[in-house]
Amino acid sequence: MSNLSESIKLKLASMAEDYLRQLPLRFNEILKNVSIARTEGDLKSLGILKNSIHKLAGSGATFGFDELSLKSKELEESINLFLEDENKNSSFDWKEFDESLLVIQDICKPDSAPEELEELEELDSSIAPLVLNPQADLQADRFERNLIVYLSDKEDSVISEITEQMGIFGFRITPIYDIDTLETFFTDNMCRVLIVNTSFIEKDSSAGSRLTELKRISRYSLSIIYVADSGDFNLRLKTVKSGGDAFFVVPLDTGILVDKIDKLTSRINHPPYHILLIDDDPEQIVYYAFVLQQAGMITSVASDPKQVIEVLVESKPELIIMDMYMPTCDGIELASIIRQHESFLTIPIIFLSAEKSEGKHLDAIRTGADDFLIKPIKPETLITIINAKAVRNRNLRYLMERDSLTGLLNHANLKERISMEMIRVKRSGGNLSYAMIDADHFKNVNDTYGHLAGDLVLKSLSRMLQDRLRRTDIIGRYGGEEFGIILINTDSDNAYTVMEEVRKNFGLLKHKSENEEFYVTLSCGIASFPKCNSPSELNDAADKAMYEAKSSGRDRTVVHGC
Ligand code: GH3
Ligand code: MG
Ligand code: MG
Repeated sequence: MSNLSESIKLKLASMAEDYLRQLPLRFNEILKNVSIARTEGDLKSLGILKNSIHKLAGSGATFGFDELSLKSKELEESINLFLEDENKNSSFDWKEFDESLLVIQDICKPDSAPEELEELEELDSSIAPLVLNPQADLQADRFERNLIVYLSDKEDSVISEITEQMGIFGFRITPIYDIDTLETFFTDNMCRVLIVNTSFIEKDSSAGSRLTELKRISRYSLSIIYVADSGDFNLRLKTVKSGGDAFFVVPLDTGILVDKIDKLTSRINHPPYHILLIDDDPEQIVYYAFVLQQAGMITSVASDPKQVIEVLVESKPELIIMDMYMPTCDGIELASIIRQHESFLTIPIIFLSAEKSEGKHLDAIRTGADDFLIKPIKPETLITIINAKAVRNRNLRYLMERDSLTGLLNHANLKERISMEMIRVKRSGGNLSYAMIDADHFKNVNDTYGHLAGDLVLKSLSRMLQDRLRRTDIIGRYGGEEFGIILINTDSDNAYTVMEEVRKNFGLLKHKSENEEFYVTLSCGIASFPKCNSPSELNDAADKAMYEAKSSGRDRTVVHGC
């Protein structure tokens, strides 16, 4: 992680300033707890007082007020020693406590803001306001993902072929016939994939180096794919020297080409990591959420432990950062509750706390926490650690949940998602449809064109489903040549329209075996909630509808009547 930009540092400093302004209020809260603990004189109120001082130690560390954090920590420790002392021969020493509290009071009083912080307020107005849960407003989304430029010296057969066949996958092809126009185009447009007919670099001797230069100066990662009439060594070498990332010989197999484009662009297109922050202190949540958002992550927040399971179901975060001490239950207890749910067994939980006790850290790790980070932590360090854990977790989950051929959800995970989505729709109302797709006469496809050609057909289908359906829809490989799709917030009429479009488009897609071209059709069955009221009813009804589509002639979609 590189250093944070000046504007981010300013924003963080401005948050620290807001915190400083609120310190008197926080201190009053502590005074209130002191007064209760004194009057009541019981261990419970002393425990509550300890937690509020712990919170001050944590927030002080977060916002860079080291002395405040240190003094609070000492005070917290003195209460802790008393609470943990089993004999309790004497009562709590309020005199010593009051003396230490005075030091904290001094730091927290209203006029302690250093002067340089006041200047920051003016500068801060130029910084965009902080938004929690932004819709991935990232560089990645400003690209027109499916725009592809095709460069050739003349209108050729490849252009019509890829315009038609790649169009089925949702790609838009822009042909360009000279390099000046190409360079201008790339100044004005963001496009990640350039397909070049090798005749272009063969005819124009300077074209290869200009393409390499275009790639080098590009502000983002640009992939160049060469297509050629033959695959001889010298030509391949020339394309490598001209910045080529891939080489294909015509006739092109669209499925393989699309697969290659996916691989070349997947590193950049990956959706942002989604992190859930749990902390009962709103200011610290805002601070850490801002830090993570600046690194391109999406954040959800929960300040009440009781909301956490609901937030986990609703926003499906990939990693949890949790405070240690909160009202109602502490972090270790909350982690145990989260781990009681099978769906959240593998979600990484990272504690972020001012708690330094190694014993507590080990308790947390025993409960299933993945790491324990101690406040204060530098924003850059937090980002690096969270990013590394999120990457690893996503890779692991991919292997666990996905089918290796198509990258779609595997059978078990698809079924689990049906159950989860059913719970969600029952609670929040609305519609839900489930579609099952089965490739027609697929055994014949394998027998006639080979198993490898069959595999490519399944990959093409999965790619088309991912492209044609909305991001919110959930696509899985049910098994073999059968696929299941959960269409969120979609009634059966709309599901029918969507699936018919997929079915018809897929039927137009030309597949290639070594020396033949062929087409594959699909049969589809649809069932919907609320007509079907449980995951198994939904699954059985969609399956029945799909078999009706088969028995009535295949290559069609049937909606279950119920
Ligand atoms: P129907 O129209 O009735 O669905 O006929 P079908 O031949 O598609 O159905 P059947 O269930 O008899 O055969 C399914 C075929 O799908 C048999 C199996 O070899 C093939 N298949 C399943 N998984 C894969 C796979 O991963 N790759 C390939 N290439 N073929 C697969
Ligand atoms: Mg089948
Ligand atoms: Mg079949």
